Amino acid sequence: MGETERNAAKDGGITPAVRICMIFAAVLFVSAVIAVILMHRPAESSRVVIIRENGVIYSLDLANEPDRTFRITAEDGSWNEVTIDNGTICISDADCPDLTCVHTGVLRSESVPIVCLPHKLVIRFDDGDTEAADEG
Ligand SMILES: [Zn+2]
Repeated sequence: MGETERNAAKDGGITPAVRICMIFAAVLFVSAVIAVILMHRPAESSRVVIIRENGVIYSLDLANEPDRTFRITAEDGSWNEVTIDNGTICISDADCPDLTCVHTGVLRSESVPIVCLPHKLVIRFDDGDTEAADEG
């Protein structure tokens, strides 16, 4: 161990502070690249689940679903209108105040679900561990 430290210290007179900065910059860069890759990872499966308050209410295989629009209504009367079109799924209309779910558009990525926070509604690709939906 001591041997390695001495060799590193001789190495071109780089101070530990500079070396930490370089390592930090490298880690930051690698993290950014990984984040970009994850965000743009295309969906591997066509299986989609619609989840409300941690319970799956619909499980769909978009490859086999006919084009249609249907409404999901909660007990309190709030609703989201889901459109399946040519193997894609989106929330086309809703009565939530922010309409973030509508503006999200078509579900494309496994890492970016369609979320309607006011209605606690999530549409996402089924990654196989739907049972473990107790986080958060
Ligand atoms: Zn919404």
